[in-house]
Amino acid sequence: MDFSNIKNAFSGKSNSDLNRAYLLFKTINNPKISRILTGIVKICLNLRLPITPIIKQTVFKHFCGGTTIEDSQKTIDTLWEHKIGTILDYSAEGKKTEEDFNFVYEETIRTINKASSEKSIPFCVFKFTGLTNFKLLEKISSNKKLTNNELKEKENFESRVEKICESAAEKKVKIFIDAEESWIQNAIDDMTLNMMRKFNKKNCWIYNTIQMYRNDRLDYLSEILDICKKERFLVGLKIVRGAYHEKEIERSKKYGYKCPVHQTKKDTDNDFNKALKICIKNSTNLSICAGTHNEDSSLLLTKLMIKSGFKKNNEKFFFSQLLGMSDHISYNLSKDGYNVAKYVPYGPVKDVIPYLVRRAEENTSIAGQMGRELTNISREKKRRKNI
Ligand SMILES: Cc1cc2nc3c(=O)[nH]c(=O)nc-3n(C[C@H](O)[C@H](O)[C@H](O)COP(=O)(O)OP(=O)(O)OC[C@H]3O[C@@H](n4cnc5c(N)ncnc54)[C@H](O)[C@@H]3O)c2cc1C
Repeated sequence: MDFSNIKNAFSGKSNSDLNRAYLLFKTINNPKISRILTGIVKICLNLRLPITPIIKQTVFKHFCGGTTIEDSQKTIDTLWEHKIGTILDYSAEGKKTEEDFNFVYEETIRTINKASSEKSIPFCVFKFTGLTNFKLLEKISSNKKLTNNELKEKENFESRVEKICESAAEKKVKIFIDAEESWIQNAIDDMTLNMMRKFNKKNCWIYNTIQMYRNDRLDYLSEILDICKKERFLVGLKIVRGAYHEKEIERSKKYGYKCPVHQTKKDTDNDFNKALKICIKNSTNLSICAGTHNEDSSLLLTKLMIKSGFKKNNEKFFFSQLLGMSDHISYNLSKDGYNVAKYVPYGPVKDVIPYLVRRAEENTSIAGQMGRELTNISREKKRRKNI
């Protein structure tokens, strides 16, 4: 497995795609410019200035599939030409009303219907915070007594989650449930485990997500393994490092509780890789997806699969990256015969902006270093110039 094959990595990109990506990453790679631009975007949005056309032609075009499922078809087809699947991720954030939650529910059902008829869409995905109030999940997670109104809200959102999982299982579509902040995660874990109990009896349709930056997730993994073996159901897991590291540290300091996340990257990396090893050993009971842009962890999973005698395209093992990022991992894995799928965020441009700002922040250089993406794009531009 060779992730340095840059020709494969960018085989889905035309010269103009590559030039646009270069300009984009060159801009967001500079911390000062990136901060100023994200600041301007936020101000423009507050003032309701018409900036969505500019965003749509730049960052949105690189990181998102389209504004709707239909609008994302070209991205789905282009990825599938390289045997890379799509995970349609309706990315509208900050929704707060029952009407919004019902809309997200219906949109998720639409993605399941779409996936049920297309081989190019191996998974669907949703977030609990798209289907209910953050505060309610926080209250449930800390076992606080709910008011009558909250009990009604809980019943509504549990019904939405269950109907989504039921529809996925009925239509034979695998579905990820994203992991979120640790103080709402108990509610997500408990309900997701129940969904696995109910719908993963013979096949693994429902996948939870475990964040390996948390210092209790190896214990959690062994706990759910014990449960599923005893109760005879299958567990699906997306394994990630975790997206809320700073937020977790800040909150634990603010409220004075033991920090739930590792303090060093090395500890997170170690737990991530240990989790892969445990999952390979227990693959009779588990199916996994490594959701990572980390080359070492991706390589480790390929080696573990080969060592244990699994076929590269065994349905129990998937690799996943975000659209517009780490194509050198996705395209090279897929070319070598592994199962790969990209998260393809979509939605109205203005609703997807918080997602885009996070991508910009993530790709801003640390101490002036050139980011992973920019380095690879520069190498490919040079390679094309020299042929
Ligand atoms: C397909 C896919 C799905 C995802 N789904 C989710 C999800 O459901 N929930 C979620 O929370 N995230 C999710 N993520 C994001 C993921 O958790 C990571 O934030 C992101 O992918 C970067 O980690 P990495 O493994 O790609 O690579 P790397 O760049 O090797 O790792 C960066 C990560 O390491 C950890 N880290 C960094 N510094 C430290 C430190 N000092 N101490 C301890 N740990 C540190 C952080 O988690 C950071 O994000 C997903 C990512 C992908 C690709």
